[in-house]
Amino acid sequence: MEVEEGNFDEAYDVYACMQCGKCTGSCAVSLRSDLNIRELMRIAILNENGELEKHEEIWDCTSCGICTVRCPRDLKPAEVIVGMRSSLVEGGTIPITVRDALESVGTNNNPWGRPKSKRAEWLEDLDVKVKNISEGEDAEYLLYIGCTASYDPRIQSVSRAAINVLTKLGVDFGILGEEEPCCGSEPRMMGETGLFEMLVEDNLNLFDEFSISKIITLSPHAYNTFVNDYPECAKRLKEDDAEIPDIELEVKHYTQILEELIDDGRLDGEMMNEFSETVIYHDPCYLGKRNNIFEPPRKILNIIPGARCIEFDRREDRSLCCEGGGGRMWAEGTGTGERNSIIRVNDANRDEATVIAVACPFCLSTLEDARATAGYEETMRVMDIFEILDEVLK
Ligand code: SF4
Ligand code: SF4
Repeated sequence: MEVEEGNFDEAYDVYACMQCGKCTGSCAVSLRSDLNIRELMRIAILNENGELEKHEEIWDCTSCGICTVRCPRDLKPAEVIVGMRSSLVEGGTIPITVRDALESVGTNNNPWGRPKSKRAEWLEDLDVKVKNISEGEDAEYLLYIGCTASYDPRIQSVSRAAINVLTKLGVDFGILGEEEPCCGSEPRMMGETGLFEMLVEDNLNLFDEFSISKIITLSPHAYNTFVNDYPECAKRLKEDDAEIPDIELEVKHYTQILEELIDDGRLDGEMMNEFSETVIYHDPCYLGKRNNIFEPPRKILNIIPGARCIEFDRREDRSLCCEGGGGRMWAEGTGTGERNSIIRVNDANRDEATVIAVACPFCLSTLEDARATAGYEETMRVMDIFEILDEVLK
């Protein structure tokens, strides 16, 4: 929601905030940066928009959502940050790297500064044929790959694993190839409300053009925005007479589809080779805290023969954020001290995990970096659940 002239109360009901500080107390970023969400709520209550420019740490927020989960007044402090960023974007006071990422979404349809024509290059290394819905091929599901899994060489491996696994399991899916758009999740979290609205309008019309109503996402961020942000934004746009098709999307994160296959008896341990590893699952914020999806990834890992599944102390809605969300892939951040991702790989090492299993491209990226920085390259792997399945399925 765009906040005009600092009117945070109308947008976010901030006067209900009792300044208890539970939000700040739960914020892992506040331990190593000046980010203090309770103080920012106070600025919102006082409508002191002019103060925002002095708070560079607004860009440190990873949009993990734990402050919203913990707020005893059911407020949405994480959304207030998005509103504050929106004000800063309007005023042009944003970090250069964020500005470049947002401009790239406008020109290239991805925040990575890569040409649209290269979005489907990762397909070249595939052995299996995949349907392309944008070329007129019909499929039950669109497999929405997303910007990071399309362009980042490490994460492209997850896209290829997804194709291999879903094909082996007989799921009827297709992709959009070069025509796949940015979902808009990261631009929205970076406060670019206008750009997000434009993407919602364009994308819903694109889905309608290709009769897409069922979507599987690789990323919890895409899942979250399709499920939680698109309907409200589409409603607002319709009220403003925008041409929005009447389609109802059925969106699932891939772990939910795999869970369904397990429940239907189409995926079980007998279809897999042994995976003799100690596996620790890292809950992504956008799957767990924001959408209460905790069980499907665990169910999948638990049927893999030979895998010894263990848990972090901080798991499920207490899981430690990897700091990859909320536009943080493009904002340097003002924080000092140990990154959460380093703490996470150290915790995994202490628990003698040999594989950290993830289900989010940003978690894969941050934890991979941390694994190398912390010196665990020989003893530990970070793998997306799709990559594990691709390795074990017969
Ligand atoms: S937890 Fe909720 S009520 Fe308490 S300070 Fe934060 S936003 Fe205000
Ligand atoms: S969303 Fe997460 S990082 Fe941002 S203020 Fe809330 S707890 Fe801190």
